Amino acid sequence: MKHRFSFFKKLHSLKTLLVVAFILIGFVPGCAIGGIFLYFYQQRALNNDTVSMTSQAQLLNDQIISTGYLQDTDIDVINTQLKALGNIYSGRIIVIDKTLRVVKDTYDLSDGKTFVWENAILGLKGERTSVYDNVSHCLILTVPITASDSSNNIEGVILITKSTDSIEQNITFYRNLYTYLLLVLVVIMAILSVFLSDRFSGPFEKLADLILHSQNSHDKVKVDSFMETEKISENFNEVMQKMRDIDESRQEFVSNVSHELKTPLTSMKVLADSLNSMEDGAPLEIYQDFMHDITNEIDRETKIINDLLSLVRMDKSGATMNIESKNINEMLESLLKRLGPIAEKQKVELVLESFRPVNAEVDEVKLSLGIMNLIENGIKYNKEGGYVHVSLNADHQYFYITVEDNGMGIPKESLDRIFERFYRVDKSHSREIGGTGLGLAITKNAIDMHHGDIKVHSTLGEGTTFDVRIPLIYIKEQS
Ligand code: ADP
Repeated sequence: MKHRFSFFKKLHSLKTLLVVAFILIGFVPGCAIGGIFLYFYQQRALNNDTVSMTSQAQLLNDQIISTGYLQDTDIDVINTQLKALGNIYSGRIIVIDKTLRVVKDTYDLSDGKTFVWENAILGLKGERTSVYDNVSHCLILTVPITASDSSNNIEGVILITKSTDSIEQNITFYRNLYTYLLLVLVVIMAILSVFLSDRFSGPFEKLADLILHSQNSHDKVKVDSFMETEKISENFNEVMQKMRDIDESRQEFVSNVSHELKTPLTSMKVLADSLNSMEDGAPLEIYQDFMHDITNEIDRETKIINDLLSLVRMDKSGATMNIESKNINEMLESLLKRLGPIAEKQKVELVLESFRPVNAEVDEVKLSLGIMNLIENGIKYNKEGGYVHVSLNADHQYFYITVEDNGMGIPKESLDRIFERFYRVDKSHSREIGGTGLGLAITKNAIDMHHGDIKVHSTLGEGTTFDVRIPLIYIKEQS
C-alpha cells in the first residue's frame, strides 16, 4: 500500500510531469506531422496519376472516334494500344458505348454485357470522375468519349483502372522510416527531459530543503535560480519575519502584563509589611491612611485586569461581533452623560456637537468602550478649565467622530506608539492619573473590528485631536 502511495506521489511530482511533457511534446507533434506528410504524399501521387490517365484517355478518345472503334472493335492498333496501356497501369480498360454496352474489356470478362455503374452513367452525361478504391488499392477513372465534330456528342465512356500498389509501397516505406525516426526522437527527448527536469525541479527541491532548515536558524532563505523561486523565497522570508515579530510582541506583552500586575501587589505588600512591622501597633490614622493606599492599589489592579479582559475579548481573530443598527447620536449622548461627573470633577468642559442624525451598523458595547477611552483621555490629560469637544458627522459611506481637547498634548516622537499595549508617554504621570496604557490599544482594536480608521494629531502643550472614521454598513470579513 505504501509502495503504491509513493508511486502515485512520484507521478505527481514536477519532475515526472516535466519528463512526460517533454516526451509528449516530441511525440504528439511528431506523429501529427508524419500523418499529415503521408496524407499529402498520397493525395499528390493520386493526383499525378489522374492527370496522366486523363491525357491517355484523351488520346484514346481521339483514336476511337476517328477509327469508328465503337462500331467495329476489330481494329488491331487500338486493341494493342489498350492492352499495352492496361499492362503499364497493371489495370483494366473498358470501353462502353452510349447504350452502356461493353465494346471492349482488356480482361475479356464483360465484352458485350451491359455495364451499369453510377460513374459510367455520369460519364455518358459528360462528367469525368475519378475514384480511389482503398480496399483493392486502385484508381478508377471514367472519361466520356466525345465526337470530334462540333456537335460534341457523347458516344460512350472509357473506364481506366490503375493499380496504386506502387504508391502504397512508397507510403509503407515512408511510414516505417518515419516510425524509426520518431522512436529515435522520443528516446533523445526522454534523455534530454531527464536532464532538463533535474535542472527545473532542482531549485524547488533546494528551496524546500532550505525552508525546512530555516526553522532552526534566523538565516534568510534565498534561491534565485528562477524568478518564481526568488519570489517564493522573498514571500517566505516576509511571512517568517511577521511570525517572529508576532512572537516577540507576544513575549513582550506577557512580560509587560506580569510587570504591571506585580507593581500594585508589591506596593500592597510594602504597605502591609510596614503596618505589621510597627511595634505596639500603628496609630489609627496611619492604619486608615495605609488601608486607603491599599484600596487604591486594589482598584488599580482591578482596572488593569478589566482592561486586559476587554483587550482579550476584542482580540480581532477570536471576537464575535454583535452587530446592530444603532443611533450613534444617542450612543454618544449616553457616553457624555456617563463621563459628565468625571469631567466636572476635573473642571473640564464636555461638549457634543452632532451635525446630522446618524444610524450605523455597529457593535455598541465595543465601539462605546473605544470612544469612551478617547473622551476619558481627553479629560484625564487635560488642565483645569480645559475642554473636550466631541463631534459627529457622516457622508453616504462613513460616519466620523472627532474627539478634540486642549490638554497637555502628546510629544511628536510618541504619536506612533500610543496605540501600543502598555505604552504611556509619561509613565509616572499616567500612573498617577490612573492610566494602564491599554486604553488606546482597546480603542484601536474596537475601530479595526468595525473596519474603521483612527488618526491622531497633537501639539505638545496645546491639545490633541483623534479622528475616527467607520463605515455606516458593517461588512463581514470573508474567512
Ligand atoms: P492610559 O491608560 O495610560 O491613558 P492609553 O492607551 O489610553 O493609556 O494612552 C496611552 C498614552 O497616550 C497615555 O499614557 C498618554 O500619555 C497618551 N495620551 C492618550 N490620550 C491623550 C490625550 N488626549 N492627551 C494627551 N496624552 C494622551
